[in-house]
Formats: sequence, structure tokens, C-alpha cells
Amino acid sequence: MRTAAIARYSPDATPCRIDLSDNTNAWGMPPAARAAITSMELSARYPSAYSDELKTAISAYVGLPIDSIATGCGSDDVLDAAIRAFGRPGDRLVYPAPTFVMIPAFASLNGLVPEPTPLDRLATSGARVIYLCSPNNPTGQLVIRSDIEAVLRQATSEQVVIVDEAYAEFAGESVVDLVAHHAQLVVTRTMSKAFGLAGLRVGYVLASPERIAAIETSRGPYMVSAVAEQAAVAALTIGRDWMRSRVALAIESRERLVVELRQRGLEPLDSAANFVFVPIPNALAVAAEMASSGVRVRAFGDPAGLRITVAPWPILQDALRALDEARRCA
Ligand SMILES: *Cc1c(COP(=O)(O)O)cnc(C)c1O
Repeated sequence: MRTAAIARYSPDATPCRIDLSDNTNAWGMPPAARAAITSMELSARYPSAYSDELKTAISAYVGLPIDSIATGCGSDDVLDAAIRAFGRPGDRLVYPAPTFVMIPAFASLNGLVPEPTPLDRLATSGARVIYLCSPNNPTGQLVIRSDIEAVLRQATSEQVVIVDEAYAEFAGESVVDLVAHHAQLVVTRTMSKAFGLAGLRVGYVLASPERIAAIETSRGPYMVSAVAEQAAVAALTIGRDWMRSRVALAIESRERLVVELRQRGLEPLDSAANFVFVPIPNALAVAAEMASSGVRVRAFGDPAGLRITVAPWPILQDALRALDEARRCA
């Protein structure tokens, strides 16, 4: 195994005044989810093996049948399981760079070779697993639907196309409806971002019943705890209006942030998510300087830039002051 070469994920966890580094929901979690947890009758038994109740709620939310849904301990878990289900050691996994940092790690963990590849060469690369993230983390950019359809048309039955829709609720756009028509397509989603349940670890994957069966058998049962399942069901049902109204607030904040960044002569990328990527040459130094005034953002070295999670406007104003200060000093 190659695991020795893979670094342990180690985000900066020191306490800070304002944390805009991980794209979680700055508006919290749906009150319905909190109520479901606090009023729960806890049992000494296992939860259902494959989260039947949660699948029913997801089915109603996405409009796909239950046998097209698998759940997991965050979408990290379903991404890892899907890569393992469809890739064999030695196979390649291609993705347009930059993208979600966990993907090369999950590829390597499962013995696959991660390979950054331009969008228009993904399918013709012949790689077993193709990964696309839309909206993409860390750039925030949406992969347009016709580009995803082109990849699906070109892909052979030997290939699998994973589309990571962790931020779909913010984009208001999705390719979930294509699952019924494309046997190669696997779409992953999470409850960690728009639904505010990052701490509870719930994700899901949508694909053909055959692929779902392969994903569920590529790892063990009981991946979603009883507490997480109840919270997620409440969020997806009673909590849906809460989610929609917070998504609207996040988009409003994002647009104000983009205007402010442009006024500073910066050129933030168009974002369809709850974060903004702004190219800054000395991003690592600027982020370090911002951290010293208690504001944490995520810095990237290549391409150089800051990824800033959106939050209620007063918090972003505070962050902008820290950014201004940091750019003067760094
Ligand atoms: C946050 C994120 C996820 C992982 O979310 P989980 O908390 O594991 O559900 C997956 N993909 C992308 C692109 C993300 O940004």
C-alpha cells in the first residue's frame, strides 16, 4: 500500500475569532435538526445498516428512487467508497486542477494514480475514474452542464464519472436528473454545507442501482449514526425552508463580498458556491497576517489565492478590514 506517503489531514484548529476557512454554514444548522437531536430517544441498538429512513428523505428531496441512493459518513466517505468500488489498484483517476484536496488522497489510498487533466481531455484520457467538482472547490466555479454531458457522452462503459455536488444548493443547478439516463454517472452530495450538519458527518451518493449496490458493498454497514440520521432527516424535511433562506443570505453576502474585493482592485473568480476564491500573489503570507488578527481564511499556493467562506455581512466586513491590514503588512 502507498499509505505511508499520504499526509494526515491537518487543518489549523487553533481557536480564532472568525473562521472563514472551511465552507461550513456560518448561519448554523436548521433548528429542526437541533430539535431532532435533543428530543431523541437514544437506544443501545445499532442504527439501520444502510440508513433506510434517511434514504426516504433524500429520495423525496432529490427525486430519485431509493435504490439510486447510498448514504455515508460525510461525502468524503461516499467518495472514498465510490473510488474503491470502481477503481482497481493501478488505475488512473483524472480531475481538472485545482480541485477538492481530498481527491488525490482518496485516489492514492485506494491504490489509484491521481492525474490532473484538462476538462476537455478527461474522457479521452482513458482513465478509469473521472472526477469533476461543480461548483468546484476551491475556485467556486460551476462546470457547465453541457461540458458534463460531453464527458458523459465520450465516456466508455469501463469508465465512471463522479460529479461532486457538495455546493449544489448554492448553485441552484445540478446534474442529478442525468443519473437516470447515464450508467457512468455518480453524483455525490453532502449535508455539511448548505444544511449546516458538518459536525454530524452525513453525505450521500446518487447513481444507478447497480452502481449503488457496488458502492454499498465496497465498505461496511452502519456508516451513519442514529443521531446523525435523525438530524439529517429533520433537516431535509422540516428544515428545507431554513436551508433555502440561508442559501439566499449566503448568496447576498457573497455578491457584496465580490463587489468589495473588486473595489480593492482584486479579481475574485465568479462563484456559484458559499465561498469566493480571490487570486493574490502572496496569499500564504496574507493569510498568516490575517490569522494574527484572528481571521482565518484558506490560502492556496498554486494557483495563489485566498478562499473565503461567506458569512453574515458584519463578519465579512470584519474580515475585509483584516485583509486590508494584512495586504499592507504582508
Ligand atoms: C466539503 C466538501 C466535501 C466533503 O464534505 P463532507 O463533510 O465529507 O460531507 C466534499 N466535496 C467537496 C468539494 C467539499 O468541498
